[in-house]
Order: sequence, then C-alpha cells, then structure tokens
Amino acid sequence: MSILIYAESAEGKLKKVAFEIASYAKKVAETLGTTVTALTINSDNVSELAKYGVDKVLKVTNDKLAGFNAKAYADVIKQAAQQENTKLVVLSSSTDSIYLSPLVAVNLEAGYASNVIDLPVNTAPFQVKRNAFSNKAFNITEINTDIKVIGLAKNSYGIFENASTLTEEVFSPNLEDNDFDIKTESIEKSSGKVSIADADIVVSGGRGLKGPENWGLIEDLAAVLGAATACSKPVSDLGWRPHAEHVGQTGKPVATNLYIAIGISGAIQHIAGINASKVKVVINTDPEAPFFKVADYGIVGDAFDVVPRLIEKLKAF
Ligand code: FAD
Repeated sequence: MSILIYAESAEGKLKKVAFEIASYAKKVAETLGTTVTALTINSDNVSELAKYGVDKVLKVTNDKLAGFNAKAYADVIKQAAQQENTKLVVLSSSTDSIYLSPLVAVNLEAGYASNVIDLPVNTAPFQVKRNAFSNKAFNITEINTDIKVIGLAKNSYGIFENASTLTEEVFSPNLEDNDFDIKTESIEKSSGKVSIADADIVVSGGRGLKGPENWGLIEDLAAVLGAATACSKPVSDLGWRPHAEHVGQTGKPVATNLYIAIGISGAIQHIAGINASKVKVVINTDPEAPFFKVADYGIVGDAFDVVPRLIEKLKAF
C-alpha cells in the first residue's frame, strides 16, 4: 500500500505545493516502510516529482478534466486510491484542494484531518498535529478509519530533495456524466503579476497608505522582491485595491515565507489570515500598533520615507 498524493498543477506545470506534499509524504512513507505514488491531472513535467521522493506517477491526461472540477477530480482520486489500495491520501491546502479533500474523504469513507502542520505524531494510532483557531493554537487529532486523508497546511513542512527512481503509468479513470453535474468556473484576474496563492513573498498595504494613488510604493517594492501584492480589508472595501487582494480572516489566507505589512495596524482579523507566514515584517508609524506583537521584524517609521529607501537598497543589492 503506497501513500497517494494529488500533485496539483496549473496550465500543465506542477505547483510548488505538489513538491511540498511529495516531500512530506516521502518522510511519512519512510516511517511506514512504504512508497509514494503521485496522481497528476494534465501535467506535463511529472518527472520533476522524482526529485522529491515520488516513486510512481499515475498520469491522467483528459480534456474533460482541463478545468478544475472538484466532483470529477475527487472521483479520479478515489479510483487511483482504490487501484493502489492506498490507506493514506495526502493533499495540499491550496484553494482547490481545500474544496477537494472532504469530497475525497467521503468517496473513500475516510477520516479527514485538514490543516495538518507536521509529520504524524504517532502512526498507530494515527495522530496528526493541526492548526486551530486561526493558527493561534494546535491540536492533536486521531484518525481511526482504515483509509485516512490529510490536508497539509501550506508552507508548514517545506520542500526537501530526496531523489527516487520514478516510474510513470498512464491512468485512465472512468468518468461518468454525473461527475460533471457541478461546473466550476475559474475567474483569475490575470495581471501578469505574481499571484498571492503562489507567492513566496507578499507585500501588503493598509489604510496607512492614505489612498490608491500611493500604491506605487507597494508595487515597486513587490517588483524588486518578485512578490505578490495584497491589502487589508478596508483598503479593498474602499475600492483602493481589488477584492482579490484582500487578505485576512475574511479574505485570502496567506502562508508565505515573508509577509511585509505596510501601514497595517494588525487587527486580529488581519493577523488570523496571515499568521501562518514564516517571517512577518511590519512598517508602521505607531510603535503601539498590534502588528508589532506578532512581527519578527518591525520598523517604526513613515512608509513614505522607509519604503523608497528600502527599494533603493534592494535595487543596489
Ligand atoms: P487601520 O486600522 O486604519 O490601520 C492603519 C495603520 O497604518 C495604523 O496602524 C497606523 O499607525 C498606520 N499608519 C498610518 N500612517 C502611516 C504611515 N505614513 N506609514 C506607516 N504606517 C502608517 N481586516 C483585514 O485586513 N482582513 C480581514 O480579513 C478582515 N476581516 C474582518 C472580519 C470582521 C468580521 C471584522 C469585524 C473585521 C475584519 N477586518 C479585516 C477589519 C479589521 O478589524 C481592521 O479594521 C482592519 O484590518 C484594519 O485595516 P488597516 O490596518 O489597513 O487600517
């Protein structure tokens, strides 16, 4: 029984989360004395998975699955799991997989733990550590079902090279008409910039920026760092920035390596959505701003003075 991972891709290219869950599954497989099988759907470059310890790829190529469709994808994962006699399925916590994982669990009559942040605490009984209360606490969850499904929190484990010899197998699932009952339409604002979901670095602006006319500061800093841009809720409510950039409890969750908050006070609802980021930096005029309590690095200063100097230094770097 191999561990099955669903290795996501976008436009044929494997996503970073695929390598993270592969690295994670490999480590778990070593503990359990088993192998890792990855299921890919319409991915071109599956051989990359060998670098991260995947032993076998079940490669699905099917035009009907060109766009993400949770019901159909969950059915394909179920069929792959049954073929491989899998007892453990690992998915990421990407926007698609968060939607997909409970459906996979239902299909396989499996117990499901979302937001898992570390290797299993125990394998018998099977216990995992999970984030809780918007990443403010964690709990240990035991899964007692024969088949188990895990959703690994983004950026929680890391990507580790662990070369393996990969075999590729064409996998042709049986797709029924009712797999396509629900249509999912993706509306991606394609600005040509880095998307928040895929970014390693996010530069985020708040009401301290005073108005949309000053967003050049955020964009310039993001451009130098190869980062995505984001904003606090009031900024998008005021129409200074598109809603797609709103991060926090009611916006997009962010779990990047570096999150830079400029002119953002650090209200609990904002922090709840970005807390999983590895390194948090704040630039704020008010030394009492709550963001300083959660930040790893803080600059007390005026964004209009600090950010241009930061950009200049980074350009010279
Ligand atoms: P402010 O609170 O106005 O803070 C602006 C900051 O900029 C201040 O700290 C100030 O000192 C600083 N500043 C001013 N001038 C400068 C300068 N020149 N240079 C540097 N710093 C400067 N908010 C979210 O962001 N995301 C959410 O998902 C979210 N969900 C919510 C859900 C609910 C149910 C509720 C009730 C609220 C939610 N909020 C959310 C709103 C949240 O409570 C805060 O109101 C919001 O995060 C504040 O945004 P802000 O920090 O940009 O603005």
